[in-house]
Amino acid sequence: MRAVCWHGKHDVRVDTVPDPQIVSRGDVIVKVALTSICGSDLHLYDGMIPAMKKGDILGHEFVGEIVEAGPGVTRFRAGDRVIVPFPISCGACWYCKHELWSLCDNTNPNSLMMENIYGDTGAGIFGYSHLYGGYSGGQAEYVRVPFADVGLEKIPDGIPYEQVVLLTDVFPTAYQAATYCNINPGDTVAVWGCGPIGLLAMKSALHLGAERVIGIDRFPERLQMAHTHCRADVLNYEEVDVAKELQNMTGGRGPDSCIDAVGMEAAGTGIEGAYDSIKQTLRLESDRSSALRQLVKACRKGGTLSISGVYGGFVDKMPMGAIFAKGLTMRGGQAHVHKYLPHLVKLVQDRQIDPSFIITHRMLLEDAPRGYRMFRDKEDSCIKIVMKAQASAAALPEAEAPASGT
Ligand code: NAD
Ligand code: ZN
Repeated sequence: MRAVCWHGKHDVRVDTVPDPQIVSRGDVIVKVALTSICGSDLHLYDGMIPAMKKGDILGHEFVGEIVEAGPGVTRFRAGDRVIVPFPISCGACWYCKHELWSLCDNTNPNSLMMENIYGDTGAGIFGYSHLYGGYSGGQAEYVRVPFADVGLEKIPDGIPYEQVVLLTDVFPTAYQAATYCNINPGDTVAVWGCGPIGLLAMKSALHLGAERVIGIDRFPERLQMAHTHCRADVLNYEEVDVAKELQNMTGGRGPDSCIDAVGMEAAGTGIEGAYDSIKQTLRLESDRSSALRQLVKACRKGGTLSISGVYGGFVDKMPMGAIFAKGLTMRGGQAHVHKYLPHLVKLVQDRQIDPSFIITHRMLLEDAPRGYRMFRDKEDSCIKIVMKAQASAAALPEAEAPASGT
């Protein structure tokens, strides 16, 4: 089959690799219909996540049709169209039983590696380094999906793949980020990063009752989308002092909660930006945290910082004194996708939220190297790319027609 493989920093290629096989009773093989490139994939592309090997198959956002099911699979059979959550969860450990699905104790075969670095393990993740289990990803024609009965969600008839491909990661991640804000009526939620996660976090915050959302980024098309699709007031962090501006916009108090939808590759400005870039280049810090510092500075006393951006190691000059003095709550982590999926599928089915508004580019799997470059450099106003996974796919339609079930 054809698959998008990592070969090094800024080097992804579409290779011909062996088809995946069923290895455990609970596995299924999914024939991937649509897959997308995530901001998290950029951290791999930019060489920020350790434990990648040449030839690793990328991709953790994919939907498709089951073509083969292991003998232990009871809820699904060949022909079912499914959504596949990006974390792999066993469903039986203490963490899964407490709905902390992305912290599953049993699905990361390299748990010792993670324990050595972080003190404990997390769930395996498709296509996301050997630190997260070394699972082959879904930017491929086919993928092996373990623990199928636990993780998969059937796609209701009539819903096209495009409307649910973002339920594998982006929408649940954004929704979790908003729920972590414990939104009360009248609240203002500020969101750093108007990429896919930030945009859907704003949508989710409004859905959960926020009165006002404020989006922060530097790309005009992203700020524009935040404004038109999410009713957001927007700030360009290159043009204003974000923390000061946010306080002005909220009667001097600051936003009730602040969402980080940026992560470890935050762009900084001025001396602070240069400081982070130099320290990272010299390997004196692993993650750039200028957005995170702004969250702390801007948030109102007693407010919440909700961290959905991915961090991999150590941040520098974290204003711990301010976190303490302002009595802030900080929450974050990989999304517990399984927990939110049924509700979010229903929201899509009831036409309350259609997350596909963020998709700006459609291409074939074979175009993945161009897609990665384009998404990383935000070329052509790119916000989210979906790729048709089947090599035989005919010319791409503008937008996918309503699904006929195939
Ligand atoms: P993206 O790269 O498209 O968006 C990031 C945005 O942040 C960009 O628009 C960029 O201009 C903006 N940005 C950079 N520096 C900034 C700053 N200092 N202030 C404000 N904005 C700034 O990526 P995405 O797909 O939206 O993902 C965002 C983050 O969420 C990534 O770190 C990704 O790894 C993470 N993520 C986490 C989970 C999870 O489970 N927690 C799941 C998916 C993605
Ligand atoms: Zn993702």
